[in-house]
Amino acid sequence: MIRRLALLAAFTGVLLSCSGEQRDYLQIHKSAIVADMHSDTPLRMKRGFDIAARSNDGQMDLPRLVEGGTDLQVFACYVSTGTPKEECRPKVDELIDTLTAQIARNSDRIGICLTAAEAESLVAEGKVASFIGIENGVAIAGDLANLEHFYNRGVRYLTLTHTASSDWCISSADTAPAFGGLTDFGREVVHKMNELGMIIDISHASVEAVDEVLKLTTSPVIASHSCVHAICPHDRNLTDEQIKAVAANGGVIGINYFSGYISADYSRMMDSLFEAQEPLYDSLRELYKDNDSLWRLKKAELWDGIMAELDKIEVNVGHVVDHIDHIVRLVGADYVGLGSDFDGVFAMPKGLEDCTGVPLITKELMARGYSEDDIRKILGGNFMRVFRQVCDRRIS
Ligand SMILES: [Zn+2]
Repeated sequence: MIRRLALLAAFTGVLLSCSGEQRDYLQIHKSAIVADMHSDTPLRMKRGFDIAARSNDGQMDLPRLVEGGTDLQVFACYVSTGTPKEECRPKVDELIDTLTAQIARNSDRIGICLTAAEAESLVAEGKVASFIGIENGVAIAGDLANLEHFYNRGVRYLTLTHTASSDWCISSADTAPAFGGLTDFGREVVHKMNELGMIIDISHASVEAVDEVLKLTTSPVIASHSCVHAICPHDRNLTDEQIKAVAANGGVIGINYFSGYISADYSRMMDSLFEAQEPLYDSLRELYKDNDSLWRLKKAELWDGIMAELDKIEVNVGHVVDHIDHIVRLVGADYVGLGSDFDGVFAMPKGLEDCTGVPLITKELMARGYSEDDIRKILGGNFMRVFRQVCDRRIS
């Protein structure tokens, strides 16, 4: 315990002998269950990334999770919407295989949790609890038997859709939806997930889809990695009305740290740079269509130019906590948590460049006068409540 606290203190650049305020935030952070509701690290693992060793690459690994005090990490296994149906299940199975093999190799430091009670046991043993999620409902290839298959493999949440609509759930990014929020099959998925004891994740879903899910579900839902639309009006973020509806359902919203969802200025600049660069991108692609290595070089140059402009806009931990504040003011402290999107996005706020920065959220919450109780709920208590309510009942 002291060793882990010292590591945490060393990383965050403060000594345990520092002022009372600094000591308090680290103590609260360390003793709370800190749950991150969304990372995309399994895709990196499939490309050969080993979570066991500390790395400067990517946004998380096991040593950095420990340093940042994360107790429960959701590892989302992602499959893209364009994947042919017959390839969806094998692709997700492969991600789960890779993830579980890495966890098995490091069983002295991390273990899989299927229930909130199991997560608490792992944390009590000083291990990170690993929660398996799937990002994008296309994974089940339109067959409820696949949903059950993934449940039996230990998957405990499914993000219903992604940045493009599937044939049964409309995405928030879809400007010309082919149907309302869900099809009949989509509604069957909701019922089946309720029956299995699997958490429904509404991040990425359209307003109509979220509405339908909330009307149908008999269990609390999560938005595993979404922010506040009133602060940053991006389609991925939740309106005040949606936040109130999630609270009425007893669910929880994990705040995504991606600068493009946190800061309206960043989001606007990102959109206008992408739009402005599009003709140049297209012409260069045409010009270098027979020279892949040169095209890759040009693409990297374009990207560096975009990032150099975006880096001029400061986004910091305070901006992340503004989203938490907004939800707390709107519906109270019981419905918000953390959903980093680590290893899934390209720009993180200053201080949150990787998972070792998470204690800075606790520091900022304390500086804003949050009670210890509310801080514990936000860091992980709220997610643990939903996890227990949805997933523990079947086994207990
Ligand atoms: Zn996502």
